[in-house]
Amino acid sequence: MNQSASRSALQARLAEVNERIAAACQRGGRRREAVTLVAVTKTVTAEMASLLPELGVWDIGESRPQELVRKAAALPATVRWHLIGHLQRNKIRLVLPLVHMIHSVDSWRLLTALEEQATARRQAVSVLLEVNASREAAKHGFAPEELPELAPRLRELRFVQARGLMTMAAFAEDPERCRPTFAALRQWRDRLRSELTAPHQLEHLSMGMSNDFEIAIEEGATMVRIGTILWEGLP
Ligand SMILES: *Cc1c(COP(=O)(O)O)cnc(C)c1O
Repeated sequence: MNQSASRSALQARLAEVNERIAAACQRGGRRREAVTLVAVTKTVTAEMASLLPELGVWDIGESRPQELVRKAAALPATVRWHLIGHLQRNKIRLVLPLVHMIHSVDSWRLLTALEEQATARRQAVSVLLEVNASREAAKHGFAPEELPELAPRLRELRFVQARGLMTMAAFAEDPERCRPTFAALRQWRDRLRSELTAPHQLEHLSMGMSNDFEIAIEEGATMVRIGTILWEGLP
């Protein structure tokens, strides 16, 4: 594989995506600094992923714990790793020393197990609560109506710090159809935020992927998780 051709192709893709992010920020009346691109590397090799920090992208998302561990060993230690896929409790120990943020906390059982292990390590861990906003049976996440019950329980956590909500909209040919999902996630976030105090801040909304990130930004996304449009067809 020609690493230098891949590098310039990726650089061009990043420039394009960043331009689209900036335009969406403008349409939504958002500051560009308020939105972080999390580059998703689940479909590429560690070698390809290592081009990202070379090109100035330090926020990288992986969906599988073992794959995150594998790539983390091959990339600079200064990468901020985002776990965006389902986390089983027996994999917590693997990822805890490495992750910057876990986007995919989808059950109270997982939250409890995370608090236990974070306490043992005396390590604060930033998490997002995944919401199954589109209510698809195949998707993980809390049902929206479960969120109010979470507030009193979250207040008891010390090392696990809730920083916001995450969702995946149902795929739609026309991304405009995802807008109500993103708007709803923002409202649920605002409601839950008003019931929590430090260290739980809920400033983040992790929503928007290759197909729908511009709509998500217009509706308040602070993190967009993008894979396909960065890597598709790269040499
Ligand atoms: C794969 C994945 C993404 C990236 O999706 P693309 O459509 O490839 O941009 C974002 N979030 C999650 C949770 C994923 O699993």
